[in-house]
Amino acid sequence: MTQTLAGRVSGPVYTPNDAGYAPECAGFNVVVTHSPQYVVAVKSTQDVVEAIRFARENHLPVSVQATGHGTDVPITSGVLLSTKAMNHVSIDPATRVATIGAGARWEPVVAEAAKHGLAPIAGSSLNVGVVGYLLGGGFGPLVRSHGVSSDYVVGYTLVTCDGETVEASAEKHPDLFWGLRGGKGGFGIVTEVKVQLVELRSLYAGSLFFEEQHIEAVLRGWVKWTSEADARVSTSIAVMRFPPFDFIPPPLRGRTVINLRFAYPGSMEEGAKLAAPLRALAPLYLDMLGELPATQMARIHNDPDQPSPVWTSGMMLSHVDQDLVTTLLRHVGAGAQTPYFMLELRHLGGASQKDVAGGSAVGGRNGNFLIGLVGMHPPLFEAVLPGATEGLRAELKSWLSPEMAINFMGKVRDAAHFDSAWPDAIRAKLKEVRGKYDPHKLFAAK
Ligand SMILES: Cc1cc2nc3c(=O)[nH]c(=O)nc-3n(C[C@H](O)[C@H](O)[C@H](O)COP(=O)(O)OP(=O)(O)OC[C@H]3O[C@@H](n4cnc5c(N)ncnc54)[C@H](O)[C@@H]3O)c2cc1C
Repeated sequence: MTQTLAGRVSGPVYTPNDAGYAPECAGFNVVVTHSPQYVVAVKSTQDVVEAIRFARENHLPVSVQATGHGTDVPITSGVLLSTKAMNHVSIDPATRVATIGAGARWEPVVAEAAKHGLAPIAGSSLNVGVVGYLLGGGFGPLVRSHGVSSDYVVGYTLVTCDGETVEASAEKHPDLFWGLRGGKGGFGIVTEVKVQLVELRSLYAGSLFFEEQHIEAVLRGWVKWTSEADARVSTSIAVMRFPPFDFIPPPLRGRTVINLRFAYPGSMEEGAKLAAPLRALAPLYLDMLGELPATQMARIHNDPDQPSPVWTSGMMLSHVDQDLVTTLLRHVGAGAQTPYFMLELRHLGGASQKDVAGGSAVGGRNGNFLIGLVGMHPPLFEAVLPGATEGLRAELKSWLSPEMAINFMGKVRDAAHFDSAWPDAIRAKLKEVRGKYDPHKLFAAK
């Protein structure tokens, strides 16, 4: 069977005993190991077509991986399409549209766009894959000024369960286009996406760090500040406990800090004025906020870019207040014992709450804050973090929003958990669209 598949595609096909199998399956999260029957390193849309037809003929499920940043659950059967080699990026400066292959990361898109004074509305890490990120909507560091990233998608090319290649846009297959803008998975395999870029050369952006003893003052002050924050400013705040490892830069190695991230896509003078109340929340430990070229956007959050062991989970909040802070401080305040490497609160709202013309399947558009939880110590991943997080979720019940951003859900337990990211009306329509384009459920929704 392997020979049959290999004869139909131009990219290599690996099975578990091949030397290339493990590297091709590897994702960003090193504690999750995929073990599909076949992994096909697809090189073209035709390879995707043939691999899907082969899977259908042999009753095998199909999954897909670009960078593996969304690897929370192991893939244990079927055909895995690895899109790494389909990483083409081209920019049309006249229309300001980027055409991006299924395997591309944000970094080359940002670099190519910058040559024309343009930028994509990307996520916090430019190492993340464009397609996987956009299928989940995408709540990035410019979320309040520019909105959800999938609002900028103008078209997808997708291979369906029948091996047909379809274009999805506002004009062609609008129902599929609606679903692909935030509905995540279960439609088919995307081979290319077209994204509208914005004019953006630099921002007033970056990070402020405060020491552990100021966690309470900074968290309370930031929460108060968000109630009147300018809609053009996007911020997030994260309590981070850095382990004493050599790869962590000395000022942060072994320290607990509270890190305030700020992004304002306007003049430096105005940006400095808008950031002044935040700089004054407590004595600053590190001030890394100022003019930032659009190519350096990843320095707002400074997410890790090397594969590592990681556990994540998230919650969406409808509002925040000082009682919420009191609750969070019990978990991550100065001196608290916490299993989390990071607890982050992202401020949403602003442009992210305005849907696109024709609508989209983004879950979490009505949420106002997003909590991201990250663990990095593997012994805690199964034994401690899920239970601790359920406890935290119960304590935060009165602040929770009924929907969620699927990209921040972490390990999806089952179909019901996955579906819970969307409000009822979107969930029902997603079911319809998935049923139309993948009636045989060849593709896992997640
Ligand atoms: C360090 C880090 C920072 C992040 N920052 C943000 C952020 O700021 N905002 C945000 O919204 N999210 C963020 N995320 C979440 C991220 O957007 C999702 O995990 C996303 O799914 C990653 O996509 P990927 O292609 O890189 O990962 P992969 O693991 O390769 O893919 C993840 C999933 O995307 C889908 N997918 C990928 N390629 C295709 C394809 N060609 N066709 C169909 N489906 C496909 C599949 O469901 C796949 O399982 C972050 C994640 C990490 C690890």
